Amino acid sequence: MNGKVYLVGAGPGAGGLITLKGRDLIRSADVIVCDRLVDEEIMEMIPADTERIDVGKNAGHHPVPQDRINEILLEQARAGKQVVRLKGGDPFVFGRGGEELELLEENGIAFEVVPGITSAIAAAAYGGIPVTHRDFCSSVHFITGHARAGKELEIDYESLVRLKGTLVFLMGVSNAGQLARGLLGAGMDPEEPTGIVENGTRSNQRTFVQPLRELADAVEKHGIRSPALLIVGKVCSLADRFGWFDRLPLKGKRFLVTRPEAGASRLAEGLRQMGAQVTVRPAIRTEAIRPLNISDGPYDTVVFTSAAGVKSYCESLLEEGRDARWFAGRKIACIGSATAAALREFGLQADFIPSVFSGEALGREMIDGGFVTGDSRVLLLRTDMASRDVTDALEQAGIAYEDIPVYRTELLAAEETFAPEEFDVITFTSRSCVEGFTGGKSRKEFEDCVALCIGEKTAEAARRYGFQVVCSEEATIGSMIAKATEI
Ligand code: SAH
Repeated sequence: MNGKVYLVGAGPGAGGLITLKGRDLIRSADVIVCDRLVDEEIMEMIPADTERIDVGKNAGHHPVPQDRINEILLEQARAGKQVVRLKGGDPFVFGRGGEELELLEENGIAFEVVPGITSAIAAAAYGGIPVTHRDFCSSVHFITGHARAGKELEIDYESLVRLKGTLVFLMGVSNAGQLARGLLGAGMDPEEPTGIVENGTRSNQRTFVQPLRELADAVEKHGIRSPALLIVGKVCSLADRFGWFDRLPLKGKRFLVTRPEAGASRLAEGLRQMGAQVTVRPAIRTEAIRPLNISDGPYDTVVFTSAAGVKSYCESLLEEGRDARWFAGRKIACIGSATAAALREFGLQADFIPSVFSGEALGREMIDGGFVTGDSRVLLLRTDMASRDVTDALEQAGIAYEDIPVYRTELLAAEETFAPEEFDVITFTSRSCVEGFTGGKSRKEFEDCVALCIGEKTAEAARRYGFQVVCSEEATIGSMIAKATEI
């Protein structure tokens, strides 16, 4: 049985700009054949065990020739696989999507095309340039600024000038001078506004607006590199007013998120929404411990110090054919709001959350506020790497407790290849993330790195390894994101 090929548009860059259908196909594909223009944010959506074939092209030279790409798609489909051919922007807008379908169609291979958001519209929009506007134009034209090998550009400049529409040149960076001369030669006003949007929709986007007579110089002066759009038309004059993306507070800042996959997305997404470039490289991995065999014991108070602990324990109850009624008659304390939110997913409310989200405050405030007393029987459900903060406080107050690990925290190999100049800020959401990331060793490079930490304990650990530390006001992801804008 032959498989099927999905030609999927990955959008212009930013991870949110892929279609739902495209994302679902990426998650379920057997093999992904991808391009250079596909962004890291999109690549992160590919499950770790999915096969990838990189046929990425660099401007000017094609490491994998088009014919070979076409054959790879055919071979993979013939092997019975669901193949996703991931292409930057939209597959049919200067994407050679048509060429890739020809061989499949000739060989009777089933295929589908999933359109993508083309950079020709999206990069302009992120640069504050609406490709049409009733006051300025009544058409928009997409033009390649790249000639086929050994050939001249074949552009009918007279027609383009006569149409008075917005002109969007793709692949035009290296021919900017020729394009501008062509338009001027055909009578276009030298003062006609033009825009350049380099790396559109990505955190390192740059946008420039200038009159046509200065376009080629601007490309040179700013060192514009592919991928970039060259846009010609009155709509470009709106960029100064509508350039929303370049004004985001974290625009251009590069963040490294070291949280485990499950918790990383909220932090990564929040930072990205503020314009940051975010790389996710988990420094720890958590794994539920099974079987748990927790007795019905005489516990009257259950304490959770992480969402992972709640998830592991509550799922274990369900796996054993039991449910939230196990908690009946027992009080529940949580370290903070995210842990309480995880509890609510299982239909449970926290009875106690400390004013500051730390183990130390949890222990102290439970005791000072009388939530636990000398008569309490406390059950702590935590990681195998939990700190002594809560247990020390309980011991000092003479309160009996049992501390049962419900999940394991595994430190992932230290980032040997880590280059500090790659990032402006490294985020740590727990002490174990710091331990995992550093591999327990201080390094000279850390002194040049800003570490954004979730709480005092995490900050202390990061300081120990030599980082320049910034700590969020509260131990929440929201507060970390707010703090990020002050760095
Ligand atoms: N199929 C793609 C275009 C491929 S041609 C699409 O629909 O977007 C490659 C050209 O697209 C580049 O030379 C550049 O002009 C443009 N391009 C692609 N991504 C871009 C981006 N993020 N910002 C600006 N231009 C981009």
